[in-house]
Amino acid sequence: MSVIIFADQFQGKIKKSALEAVQYGAKVAQQTGTSATAVVLGEVGAEELALLGQYGAQKVLHAADARLNEPEAGVAAKVMAEAVAKENAAIIIFSHNFSGRAIAPQLSANLKAGLVAGAISLPDTSNGFVVKKNVFSGKAFANVNITSEKKIVSVLPNTFSLEAGSGTATVEAFSPAINNTDFRIKVVKAETITGEVPLTEAEIVVSGGRGLKGPENWGMVEDLAHALGAATACSRPVADSGWRPHHEHVGQTGFTVRPNLYVAIGISGAIQHLAGVNGSKVIVVVNKDPEAPFFKAADYGIVGDAFEIVPKLTEAVKKYKG
Ligand code: FAD
Repeated sequence: MSVIIFADQFQGKIKKSALEAVQYGAKVAQQTGTSATAVVLGEVGAEELALLGQYGAQKVLHAADARLNEPEAGVAAKVMAEAVAKENAAIIIFSHNFSGRAIAPQLSANLKAGLVAGAISLPDTSNGFVVKKNVFSGKAFANVNITSEKKIVSVLPNTFSLEAGSGTATVEAFSPAINNTDFRIKVVKAETITGEVPLTEAEIVVSGGRGLKGPENWGMVEDLAHALGAATACSRPVADSGWRPHHEHVGQTGFTVRPNLYVAIGISGAIQHLAGVNGSKVIVVVNKDPEAPFFKAADYGIVGDAFEIVPKLTEAVKKYKG
């Protein structure tokens, strides 16, 4: 019996969200007195695989098949099912990132396994297998007991902080039984659409709203983001107006982010916006209206004109960083 974790990679690098899933899976293995095995699909170097040991995996099953570099969900679910059978795993962990959201439900259907998507706690195994998750856009929690024999949990990204240890994992080559007819789509072109830091993986996000008046004023948001090493985001009306691309839109109908620091500039803090950002560890709000609802969710608030404050913040960050 073991806990198995899907550790996904992008262009040969294990994703941060995957490391969080591995660390979570290793803790579940400890709790349940079993071992943690990470599964990696595609071509990944030894250094990256070694990271998995540092986050608690005892074993890595590595399917170094180039066809799996960017696997479609159905194929990845099939490979995971084979890995689950091989390891006799009862608990399967994913990140609730893009790939986890696509693969975990398919595996859940294949294995008839209960799935908790977007877990924010380790399971409570004192009376069943109860995992906590957000519901209603983060306004309430649900404690869900997975009663099926096989259990799948996908872990909400940026919920658990990473702490590398000195562990090592044994790496075993894995050749899943897949053939070319299993593949139904082919990626013909991939384009990078985010800036320096991918939004959903970013530790710091600088976000702008309608208070910035127009796309011509985004330079100061980008300057602050650049100084902080942050990704940029925006409210929905900003994306709807075409001031910023839709892949920057956060909130109920956009991306959910949980960075260590979320800086909101000229955003009112409507509930639909907060739904995508209220898991951030520290929220800083810049708004000229002292009654703006965002201040209720803020750890730090600056009441004032963004056009005066943001350049000063950028200057201060640059000075601090030397
Ligand atoms: P506004 O509400 O216009 O607020 C602008 C703010 O900027 C104000 O607080 C103002 O005081 C401040 N301001 C103005 N000038 C300055 C200045 N010079 N300096 C500093 N501050 C200034 N919204 C999302 O963001 N994400 C979603 O996913 C989302 N999903 C939605 C889903 C549904 C079903 C619905 C109905 C709505 C959704 N919305 C979403 C829209 C949401 O309700 C709000 O309308 C939106 O978030 C407001 O965007 P905003 O704060 O940028 O603009």
